[in-house]
Amino acid sequence: MIVMKFGGTSVGDGEAISRAADIICQTIKDKGGGVVVVVSAMSGVTDTLLSAATSAAQGDAETFRRARWHLSDRHRQAITESISRDETQAQLVEEVETLLSDFESLCRSIHIMGELTARGSDAVASLGERLTARILAAVLRGRGERATAVEATETIITNGKHGAAVPLMDETREAAQARLMPLLAQGVIPVVTGFIAATKEGVTTTLGRGGSDYTAAILGASLDSDEIWIWTDVDGVMTADPVVVREARTLPEISYSEAAELSYFGAKVLHPKTILPAVERGIPLRIVNTFNPSHPGTLVVAEAKPSELAVKGITSIKGLSLVTVEGRGMLGVPGVAARVFTAVAQEGISVLMISQSSSEQNICFIIRQETVDRALRALEAAFETELARRNVDRIWAQNEVAIVAVVGAEMKGTPGIAAKVFGALGGHAINVISIAQGSSEYNISFVVNEEDMEDAVRYIHQEFGLGRRPEVPPEHDEGLAAGEGGC
Ligand code: ADP
Ligand code: ASP
Ligand code: MG
Repeated sequence: MIVMKFGGTSVGDGEAISRAADIICQTIKDKGGGVVVVVSAMSGVTDTLLSAATSAAQGDAETFRRARWHLSDRHRQAITESISRDETQAQLVEEVETLLSDFESLCRSIHIMGELTARGSDAVASLGERLTARILAAVLRGRGERATAVEATETIITNGKHGAAVPLMDETREAAQARLMPLLAQGVIPVVTGFIAATKEGVTTTLGRGGSDYTAAILGASLDSDEIWIWTDVDGVMTADPVVVREARTLPEISYSEAAELSYFGAKVLHPKTILPAVERGIPLRIVNTFNPSHPGTLVVAEAKPSELAVKGITSIKGLSLVTVEGRGMLGVPGVAARVFTAVAQEGISVLMISQSSSEQNICFIIRQETVDRALRALEAAFETELARRNVDRIWAQNEVAIVAVVGAEMKGTPGIAAKVFGALGGHAINVISIAQGSSEYNISFVVNEEDMEDAVRYIHQEFGLGRRPEVPPEHDEGLAAGEGGC
């Protein structure tokens, strides 16, 4: 059995939805059934939903009404483009309008209350996936398949951490099997909403932005699927973001650890949490291109075949702040680092990277810029006495910085990588603000000004010759190449 997920661009309009349906039908033909589909919202829809709800909370009564009509047009158009029967079209349009009128009612309440709670935000954000799941299921039925839209709220049970909910895997396994196995046994294709889930009490939660990849992995693990396929808009995981580096190449095979490092440090093609459920059950992941289905893409497995490439990829994340706690009075005082990170953790802020100078006179760490004010306030409160006594001189932040990470399992034990990385940057006069301490040997990560980030990625990519050499692809399953005309 295969769990396959289609991302936002892969269902971005009627043509893309038809293409996704072609791929599903072809896979079923080749493999003889056993496909669970996970679907994202159409590209940009979650952003539209969330920004409309945010502006409603700020007193804007117009944006959400406009958003409703814009979303209505876009989904209606996709329905007209991908479904031929008038009757089915009409029924689907009605379902779309019902969901969008829920959206408008939710936004009206948010507007009246003047507040967008995390729970309300998840209820609004969930609508995009609920729309596409219905459309794709109807398109598949139009091709003669038995298919049904399934709400992931019935299959993935999480804690109540809205916006970044954590799945309760035992409960999820039970719920997913109970809901999906009977459908599969009857030859029905479940088309499950990505990104969304529910608490035990049935309250809708979301798994974090970009979380539909994670949905596919959670379901893959819960159903013990043979593989998890992530259909996206690029030819797999590449040596760099192809938007930044034109000559970036597909990595035919990488290990779970490499995929985890690449995605954690910004390779948006895979949500960072996707790897964990796959690793736990040893399920291979494939990242493939909906718009180029005959390309083998990337296979992610426990042990990737040995590669000539010590450095596999260069990734980057921007929109970050470097926070520094500094003071001579910190020298040799035990527990300072623990207090710094406790204060930040208590605010629910996650730290992306840590570095400390060997003199112990300062501790630097990287967080997302939108959390920096809260972090500074929490640290000032935690070190109030030390600041008054001047044992801590300053707690401050440098904004608009980025992390660049150089990743590859074979970097371990290959001398000279760091010299090459920093040589390339020095040669182009790019200033490195900070370097990660104690990172795994799979990864060298460092901080630069945001404006230098893309150049840093390009220069390092060039330095290691990553754009030049095609690697030998792993055995390609020809079945991936979808036929032209559907089932
Ligand atoms: P989807 O909507 O299918 O989930 P995303 O937009 O989330 O797709 O992720 C795909 C995008 O990730 C690509 O279009 C590409 O620009 C970006 N990306 C960033 N880093 C990489 C990388 N190393 N390899 C491939 N794509 C990457
Ligand atoms: N639609 C959600 C988002 O935009 C989830 C996803 O696309 O993976 O974040
Ligand atoms: Mg994505």
